[in-house]
Amino acid sequence: MSCSRRNFIAGAGAVIVTTGVAGTATVSTKSLAYEMEDGKKRYGMVFDETACIGCTACTDACREVNDVPEGVSRLEITRSDPKGEYPNTDYQFNRTSCQHCDNAPCVYVCPTGAAYTDAATGIVDVDNDKCVGCGYCLAACPYQVRFFNPETKSADKCNFCRDTNLAQGKLPACVEKCPTKALTFGDLNDPDSDINKVLNNKTVYRDKVDLGTKPKLYKVPHDKGEI
Ligand code: SF4
Ligand code: SF4
Ligand code: SF4
Repeated sequence: MSCSRRNFIAGAGAVIVTTGVAGTATVSTKSLAYEMEDGKKRYGMVFDETACIGCTACTDACREVNDVPEGVSRLEITRSDPKGEYPNTDYQFNRTSCQHCDNAPCVYVCPTGAAYTDAATGIVDVDNDKCVGCGYCLAACPYQVRFFNPETKSADKCNFCRDTNLAQGKLPACVEKCPTKALTFGDLNDPDSDINKVLNNKTVYRDKVDLGTKPKLYKVPHDKGEI
């Protein structure tokens, strides 16, 4: 999994000059789903804004399964202001978590190799033993999803439950517990995977694609939302 210097520098520059800009874009799903890489897995996720009811079962499950301390989180669900006229108001929920960028600035800037991309799965992860707490990765992440774990004393973030649920052959905790099936997880390199079935049938967008990070978290836009 490469993190090209040229692309990262372009992305880093964009972070500086585009702060506060949403930077989202609609995409052609088929062109995204079939970026085959040496027959390896390339895990991604779809968050369906039209199915999310904001129950936060996903955030609770993430905290419990991954032993995330209070005060920090790997996953947040945010709620918009009310949309529409009363009594037909509705809310838009959004997921904030690591996007598992194929071209990840956090990996590129880490001086110790603690921030890395797992070659077998495409998951961007953290090696706690190698982390020296410099904070470069926190500063470099355009999605602001990294934090310092006060218990492990290491940078931390979502790793799709790679060392917990995935290691036990289960789906990520958030996907497992979502009551409305708003989350779909799977291998983007497998044309028959559940995630590719969703991507082939829904319009999706990804956040800040203009930065060149190539995120693997896709979102089905809320029908009352804006992208
Ligand atoms: S979203 Fe941030 S932490 Fe996750 S891979 Fe991308 S740059 Fe790294
Ligand atoms: S805080 Fe840790 S993971 Fe982040 S850049 Fe520094 S050493 Fe790497
Ligand atoms: S568990 Fe599912 S429905 Fe509930 S907040 Fe999370 S994504 Fe939305």
